[in-house]
Formats: sequence, structure tokens, C-alpha cells
Amino acid sequence: MARDPSVRSGADLFEVRFESIGGLGAHVAGKIVAGAAVLRMNMNGSHFSSYGSEKKGSVVRSFIRLAPADSAIRTSAPIEEPDVVVVFHAGLLAHPATLSGLRAGGTLIFAGNEGDLPEGLERAPGTAKVFRVDAQKIAFEEKSRENAVLIGALAEAVPELDRQSVLDALTATFAGKSDAVVDSNTRAFNRGADELEAVAGIGRQDGDVPTMQSHPAWGYRSAPIGGVLPTPGNTAHNDLHTSRTGWMPILERDKCIDCGMCDMVCPDLCLVWSTHVDADGNPGVKLDGIDYQYCKGCMRCVETCSTGAMIREAEEPGKADELRVPLFPGLATAAGGKHA
Ligand code: SF4
Ligand code: SF4
Repeated sequence: MARDPSVRSGADLFEVRFESIGGLGAHVAGKIVAGAAVLRMNMNGSHFSSYGSEKKGSVVRSFIRLAPADSAIRTSAPIEEPDVVVVFHAGLLAHPATLSGLRAGGTLIFAGNEGDLPEGLERAPGTAKVFRVDAQKIAFEEKSRENAVLIGALAEAVPELDRQSVLDALTATFAGKSDAVVDSNTRAFNRGADELEAVAGIGRQDGDVPTMQSHPAWGYRSAPIGGVLPTPGNTAHNDLHTSRTGWMPILERDKCIDCGMCDMVCPDLCLVWSTHVDADGNPGVKLDGIDYQYCKGCMRCVETCSTGAMIREAEEPGKADELRVPLFPGLATAAGGKHA
């Protein structure tokens, strides 16, 4: 069932939510789009973002709320029932919160490789418009960033935004930098708009996507006595693959001397070792590979490796699954190990 529009937080609002991870530029992108609407398109608007204490690599949400010039915006609450959701990393679609509240007649834009239909897309409303753009590839090729590509896609996909005004706001942001920077971002923006690809027949949700509860599961009346946590979390179940921003470390085993320096600097302990006894009867350890479920792509291992055994490569669909060496093989089997 579609929600009653009269219960919306304000009249004539047009609301956009960016779902991203720290480092992909969602906050700056939101600022540019809202700035374009207010300063160049004669609209009222507000923009703000939310992110955790460790911004880079953690979930970031950026909110843009727009209204006609004669319609006041009287709320600064997070956007829970967006008209548009822009997903900066396809891996985020696996979490139900990413599409929470998307309206039945809304628009979903996601960054994904050509032909990619990530898990979670089926949660979109069947009546929503769904678009894919290969933001990572375009950003690499144009020496720009995903955020420029995605706001180009957004400006093209929704009639409420004027493409030229958003592009002008983007170029104004880089006005103090070199012409090359302005040109690369302009090209990325235009390719995002021109290479936007409609994906049909994907959403299965009937009506609006239900809004996920944003309040804590426990309050002062319902929390267990003494503050006990009966279901503690377990870092073995962590999945950090969405924190990688297009690059992954690759082990070239024949160059590795098992010195362990990469393991000393890896913040997430995702390097997998095995023990053995050599021909002389001496015990030793060998680096078998990387468990990409826990790898956030910080590249400290690459920077530290003195033999060139650990190298940085662009991430392609399925590559992490193919090369992954599970740290906890039993757990990987149970979880399917397919999100790395
Ligand atoms: S730092 Fe390089 S050579 Fe040393 S164990 Fe790691 S990958 Fe192998
Ligand atoms: S990039 Fe290297 S150091 Fe960083 S989390 Fe992944 S394996 Fe660890």
C-alpha cells in the first residue's frame, strides 16, 4: 500500500537520500546538489549528513530536502521516506536499511558494474524507476570520483533537478583548482548523466518500501537488568567488503618471503597463515592469502611489503570471492562466503 501523502513531514517536499560509505564523497555531493537547488534553481533546500565516529569506511547517509521557493521546509529530521535513493556502493544494497522507506513511485540509482544486479535490488518497489551507472569505472577513466558521476546520474534521472544548474554548482566547487580538475569532474558528471542505464523488472515490493525502525531495540523499561548483553556481537561475522572503494590487495605468492610485515600493519587481521615444518624439521609459517570479508582496502599491507608481493589492483565483480582464503572455513561455509 502506498502511504497517505498527507502524513508527509511537509507539503511539496522532494527528498533525496544518499547511501554511501565514508570516502566516496556523499556528503560533498549532497552539498553540491542542495546548493544548486537553492542558489541556481530558486528552491528552498536543506542538506545534512550522518556518519559514525570513524567516518572513512563506515556507513554515511546524506540527506537533501527540497521544496518550491514559496513552501517552507520546517523539519530537519533524517529523511525516512525518500523520493530518491542513490546508492554509492552496490554492496550496500544487501542491507535492508539501504532502501528503507523508498516511495512506490520513487527512483533508485545505484553504482554498479555493467550487467550487475546486486543482491537486495528486489527490495525496491516494483513501480519505482531503477537506474544503474558504472560510477567506479567512469571515475577511474576520468580521474575523478564516484560522487561526480552519481550526481550527474541524479541530475539526469529526476526532472526536479536541472542538469546544467547542478553541473554549474559542481564546477564552481572546483573553481579554485586547476582546469584539469574542473575538466575531469565535468567529464565524469556528463558521463554519469549520459551512461545512466534503466533496469526494468527488478523491484518486487508492492507499494512503498516499509520504513525500518530507527529507534533503539531497548529502552530504560525493556533493557535487561544490569545492562547485560545476552546476545553479544562477534567480529567473526563482520563483513567489511563495502568499505573497499574500488581497490583490493592481491598476494603474488611467488614473491612473498613470509616476513609478516603486512600482518603487523593490517588493522583488521585479515591475512591468513598456515604452519608447517621444513625439511630440516624447523617450524615455519606461510602466508596463504587474504580473507576479503574482513579487508577494508586500506592498502597498508601493499605500502609495507618490501618485495612487491602485495600489490594493489582494481576490484572487479567476483574477484574477491575467487581469491578469498577464509580465515574461519566453517563460518565461511555457513555464511556462503559470497559477500567478500
Ligand atoms: S610483507 Fe610482503 S613479503 Fe612479507 S609476508 Fe607480507 S606479502 Fe609476504
Ligand atoms: S588492505 Fe591490506 S592491510 Fe588493509 S585491511 Fe586489507 S589486507 Fe589488511
